[in-house]
Amino acid sequence: VPVLAVVGRPNVGKSTLVNRILGRREAVVEDIPGVTRDRVSYDAEWNGRAFTVVDTGGWDPDARGLAERIAAQAEIAVSLADATLFVVDATVGITDADEEVVKILRKSGKPVVLAANKVDDERTEAEAYGLWNLGLGEPYPVSALHGRGSGDLLDAVLAVLPEPPPVTEKELGGPRRVAIVGRPNVGKSSLLNKLAGEERVVVDNVAGTTVDPVDELVELGGRTWRFVDTAGIRKRVKEASGHEYYAWLRTSTAIERSEVCVLVLDGQESIAEQDVRILQAVRESGRALVIAFNKWDLVDEERRYYLDREIERDLVQVQWAPRINITARTGWHIDRLVPAIDKALEGWETRISTGALNSFLGRLVAEHPHPVRSGKQPKVLFGTQVSTAPPTFVLFTSGKLDAGYERYIERRLREEFGFVGTPIVINVKPRE
Ligand code: GDP
Repeated sequence: VPVLAVVGRPNVGKSTLVNRILGRREAVVEDIPGVTRDRVSYDAEWNGRAFTVVDTGGWDPDARGLAERIAAQAEIAVSLADATLFVVDATVGITDADEEVVKILRKSGKPVVLAANKVDDERTEAEAYGLWNLGLGEPYPVSALHGRGSGDLLDAVLAVLPEPPPVTEKELGGPRRVAIVGRPNVGKSSLLNKLAGEERVVVDNVAGTTVDPVDELVELGGRTWRFVDTAGIRKRVKEASGHEYYAWLRTSTAIERSEVCVLVLDGQESIAEQDVRILQAVRESGRALVIAFNKWDLVDEERRYYLDREIERDLVQVQWAPRINITARTGWHIDRLVPAIDKALEGWETRISTGALNSFLGRLVAEHPHPVRSGKQPKVLFGTQVSTAPPTFVLFTSGKLDAGYERYIERRLREEFGFVGTPIVINVKPRE
């Protein structure tokens, strides 16, 4: 899915505009200084086309002045996104900070759509046209608050976003997209270096692939893989000097761009809150998942005992993910990574025929009916798998199902059909 980054000074209305684009008020909170927002990317859709919106507004690096801060945001935006939506306050006009951003955006060569916000009525529209001076093309007057002009703006955004691949890479025959994620120092770059080693693929040699400069093509097990946003793994200098938010932003977008994530954990350290947070992001994204416990050379019997407890406690929701133990530094067991990834992608793309699914559901209901609730017993009437990647099911029922019963269905689905390495989505449609 293509990525759109939203950039602009504070108070120009970025968050309001993002909410407007999403068509719901859900997500974006106003910028609160010093508060790190968890969500940085959002799934959006316009005219049937899906794209991801990244709000750079929450990134508050330790940069000195406002202009530098915004410039830093713009740099991230152009390094991560396919296109940038640059938001200017039309009632204020162009500021020095805006000029800085323009330089970065123009240098990047990536498409930019210019939104002139706070054009609440026709009268202010004239002010928007002053923004032609920025040299970024046509300014789109909008009122993020009232919705005025947002349709035209979104049309312009779609026009510059690359067409998303209609199917997964498998069907396209291109390299599978893998994201290596994990908190700092767990050994991500060591792993990537070991994997890539001397086998790094020269981009030009792969016919018909356009590769984002932040990605890396690596030959593994006789096939080419695309490791997404390896710049985020390799270029650690900036990350170290910047805000934690920067790392988080990169992680989120890498997950979005991947088909399968390899979560690297440090085997000798306790599973931390940050690990769980990344895990949560992977789950929400619906990507396939492999968990690699690295630094296994440092794991002794005692640590192993505690690790098993931690796995039970913290990884219970991803019990389905293949786990491998590796030592990235020496390369020990990293040959197990590709089979694990293959297994996860296979689960991710599994499709169950409607016939097989319903005969399974029939058996399940017969063996273990839903408990009676206030005199009624909800029944699963019919199910169908509506999509893969991840496997997504719709169940038509005669009433609402208990959360526990939904979990039971998922567990049985996994027992029956595998689904290793993939989340499963079950949408229940009660016919009341
Ligand atoms: P990243 O921040 O996740 O990319 O982590 P790095 O790859 O930079 O590794 C952080 C530190 O852990 C470095 O000092 C590595 O040499 C060390 N390291 C990485 N993998 C292993 C491993 O398998 N065993 C041991 N003992 N150290 C490792």
